[in-house]
Amino acid sequence: MTGATEPITREQVVTLITRYRPHQAQAPAEATVSAWLTSLAGCSYLECEAALLALGPSAARSVTPSEIAGRVEAARDRASAASSPQAAARRDRAAERAHFVAVGARGIRAVYEAMGWHRDPEHDRARQVRCPFCRAAPGVLCSPLSRRRDGRQEFRDPKTRMHPSRHKAARRTTAHSGANQ
Ligand SMILES: [Zn+2]
Repeated sequence: MTGATEPITREQVVTLITRYRPHQAQAPAEATVSAWLTSLAGCSYLECEAALLALGPSAARSVTPSEIAGRVEAARDRASAASSPQAAARRDRAAERAHFVAVGARGIRAVYEAMGWHRDPEHDRARQVRCPFCRAAPGVLCSPLSRRRDGRQEFRDPKTRMHPSRHKAARRTTAHSGANQ
């Protein structure tokens, strides 16, 4: 089997042409093979075949080798964008945050249960929504911000450490999502 990164060989170019350009003569002209080989230099057989398959049979019959090379390059760009360290880090951070929000919610419940403390359902509800005032994400406590750049002022509730508009937003969300929760 051919490696995914080995450059395409002359023989493989002949295979591609006869397989995907069946209207061509059974043995493609040497000049055609050379032209394809030049255009596809640096592409692997598997990449070229994937590009041809993605085109579909009728488009593959008329595609030029430089179009195939362009498609191979575009596929490589997509693949490296998806696997770039930045993309991976973004995914990791999102997963990590979701994990800590879940663990945090479980942990708080466990601590309250263990200590026999009274939990504040108002606080729990507010934690589940984004704060419209300081933009604290769900699961994150409100920041101490009390005056925004637009001049709006709000002070955190000393007991729940949440902004009053977050409590309001939480009540609205609960009302909307129905009583069966
Ligand atoms: Zn807030």
